[in-house]
Amino acid sequence: MPARFDVRTESEGAVLLDSLSRPLRDLRLSVTDRCNLRCTYCMPREIFGPDHQFLPKELILSYEEMTVLVKAISGLGLHKLRLTGGEPLLRKDLHRLIQMLRTELGEEMDIAMTTNGILLAKHADELAKAGLNRVTVSLDSLDDEIFRMMSDTKAEVADVLNGIEAAKNAGLGIKVNCVIRKGSNESQILPLVNHFRNTGVCLRFIEYMDVGNSNEWSLEEVVPASEMIDMINREFPIQPLAASHVGQVAKTWEYLDGAGSLGFITSVSQPFCGDCCRARLSVDGHLYTCLFASKGTDLMSPLRQGLSEKELAELTSEIWRKRDDRYSELRGKLGKELEKVEMSYIGG
Ligand code: SAM
Ligand code: SF4
Ligand code: SF4
Repeated sequence: MPARFDVRTESEGAVLLDSLSRPLRDLRLSVTDRCNLRCTYCMPREIFGPDHQFLPKELILSYEEMTVLVKAISGLGLHKLRLTGGEPLLRKDLHRLIQMLRTELGEEMDIAMTTNGILLAKHADELAKAGLNRVTVSLDSLDDEIFRMMSDTKAEVADVLNGIEAAKNAGLGIKVNCVIRKGSNESQILPLVNHFRNTGVCLRFIEYMDVGNSNEWSLEEVVPASEMIDMINREFPIQPLAASHVGQVAKTWEYLDGAGSLGFITSVSQPFCGDCCRARLSVDGHLYTCLFASKGTDLMSPLRQGLSEKELAELTSEIWRKRDDRYSELRGKLGKELEKVEMSYIGG
């Protein structure tokens, strides 16, 4: 059987592989565990209310510390870095972090950010100038009432659309993520498709996932991608495209009339753990090797104790070599009692 992954790095060293032969290509860096929205499927207000204890300042990585850790990990074969959270734009002067990362990681590194877009109009320009390549903006509805209900906010859809426009004007690549939750926003699938066709923005529908322990997920609330595809195909004919790279999260389709492409993230109906090259670094410096992990490894303490970049890289290699995570493929077989970290903490 041909190897799924190229096993040489650019520098011709042997590539670091986990126990299921997956390389480490993609790092998600959570820059805050706080958020200005309370999406019911991610940070329900009953749990993330006024009494919720977010991480105290002393346990949060500084931009300097983040840069050292990411630089150490980047040497292990990283191609892509995504800033996320929580809401990354709540972190003060985020462009300063992007500038530091760009300087340390070089022009080749793909640096992206996932955001709810509420504060994007204000910051798009400075983020692009600092070296950010792309943004993924989350938007679950074009209808204000549904948007406010799902994100439990007083903000408006127009705030997010203005953010997308500003990102476009700043020259950033743009994707839009939309979580579909049955009974809440299936009615928005076609309006969103219609809105983003012919705009150069790649719209991606995400199956509602059982992340964290707070959203009381049930399989009945998942709309499988196959249903979404049928619905869209009836109005706007589409066809599947071949994956452009191994480890691609979304399955990409294109409109037959040339209106662009769209994607589906099928974590529930068609898990893609076999190609998963992602690690996550939480804002308190813990490395997680799966979105559904219950425990991460503390890299903040060794960093603060003065370990060198090389030693931090060795520590990460050890963790990655042992990695055997494939939660989505085992979903339903692991028992309900499994404690998982929250997505707003680990980074989506
Ligand atoms: N706050 C930013 C945002 O919303 O874009 C970044 C962090 S958020 C945790 C990252 C992504 O995770 C968002 O696109 C969000 O829609 C998605 N997400 C959160 N909870 C989810 C769930 N239960 N199922 C599927 N996707 C989810
Ligand atoms: Fe905040 Fe993003 Fe989670 Fe919504 S999905 S609550 S915007 S972190
Ligand atoms: Fe990767 Fe874990 Fe998601 Fe599977 S469940 S794709 S291993 S993050």
